[in-house]
Amino acid sequence: MKCLGKRRGQAAAFLPLCWLFLKILQPGHSHLYNNRYAGDKVIRFIPKTEEEAYALKKISYQLKVDLWQPSSISYVSEGTVTDVHIPQNGSRALLAFLQEANIQYKVLIEDLQKTLEKGSSLHTQRNRRSLSGYNYEVYHSLEEIQNWMHHLNKTHSGLIHMFSIGRSYEGRSLFILKLGRRSRLKRAVWIDCGIHAREWIGPAFCQWFVKEALLTYKSDPAMRKMLTHLYFYIMPVFNVDGYHFSWTNDRFWRKTRSRNSRFRCRGVDANRNWKVKWCDEGASMHPCDDTYCGPFPESEPEVKAVANFLRKHRKHIRAYLSFHAYAQMLLYPYSYKYATIPNFSCVESAAYKAVNALQSVYGVRYRYGPASTTLYVSSGSSMDWAYKNGIPYAFAFELRDTGYFGFLLPEMLIKPTCTETMLAVKNITMHLLKKCP
Ligand SMILES: [Zn+2]
Repeated sequence: MKCLGKRRGQAAAFLPLCWLFLKILQPGHSHLYNNRYAGDKVIRFIPKTEEEAYALKKISYQLKVDLWQPSSISYVSEGTVTDVHIPQNGSRALLAFLQEANIQYKVLIEDLQKTLEKGSSLHTQRNRRSLSGYNYEVYHSLEEIQNWMHHLNKTHSGLIHMFSIGRSYEGRSLFILKLGRRSRLKRAVWIDCGIHAREWIGPAFCQWFVKEALLTYKSDPAMRKMLTHLYFYIMPVFNVDGYHFSWTNDRFWRKTRSRNSRFRCRGVDANRNWKVKWCDEGASMHPCDDTYCGPFPESEPEVKAVANFLRKHRKHIRAYLSFHAYAQMLLYPYSYKYATIPNFSCVESAAYKAVNALQSVYGVRYRYGPASTTLYVSSGSSMDWAYKNGIPYAFAFELRDTGYFGFLLPEMLIKPTCTETMLAVKNITMHLLKKCP
């Protein structure tokens, strides 16, 4: 194709047309992420013995699978529900191995690219920019979320105050919304979403929470009470660089985007980078691992900014809530050890009531309990750090689902997921306003 002519001036004039022509000719031009997940599968296996677990760990390592659950291959042992995303070129080898070794497995997602495109309206025309008609039932890019925050700050100045607590590794602002009726001495609740980039339902929930608060605080006595007696510090996207990267390059990116001086792999697990039993069990020292703890505690500017903010306000902050996916669990400390927290009965009863409230909406069941026994032991987590630093109620939600869609929870499930989660959060918040239990 003679798109680039000899004479520069002429060629420049035709370039936009040529570009359009090339785009139309490209067979897969409408595919998201350049069709990079075509033919990839997500496979679940549950090793029945330690021997099976060992063999599965070995092959997973060799084939460089993208582990969806648990977060580190070291957690895989007898009985562990293990979901792996295997690229097309490795899936034949993995399936052959599983069949040969007579290990039971289930293909959760047959073609990741197709599932990704089916559950998303990213490639369809829709009004994403209008803020008055902001659509809370689609996933939003970082730019859209930040525009939305600016807009709310302007239009709801009586209830919302937006500010930045610092900058990310790549220089993006770390924005917080302070929500509540103005008053001097109030206790507060911290809510963050999107510590892990690929867990898109988290930021969707943070936005939903703000919407519901603004929409119902006049009509709903419980919401009015919450916003009168408490401030909510809401960070809709904690890991802004990673979240942006999960939109532009790799849908399944988990970590931050910081560079490493000795390895080409980038990023640190922002939920292993906190100064609480840092880089011990359940965290990796290797920069290429998804649970890499970083070169030192609070090495990530995002973690440091939030830790500084929480340290400064810890006397007022009664609760720390962090939103992840996927597992359908409500977790509380400790994560780094098997031990009972001193205020166990208060925290446990709050969790029990919250999961019951959640289940009352659509019957979706959440497991709840200390993170170490309910999920797995992990050190350097934000939840443990918040608790250890004097915030008495610290929770981590693992939102829907349990693996059917995994990180690709379709947009049509945003509404039910957020509706039920909202009830759980309101329940925990109302619990704070009462004297325990
Ligand atoms: Zn997570």
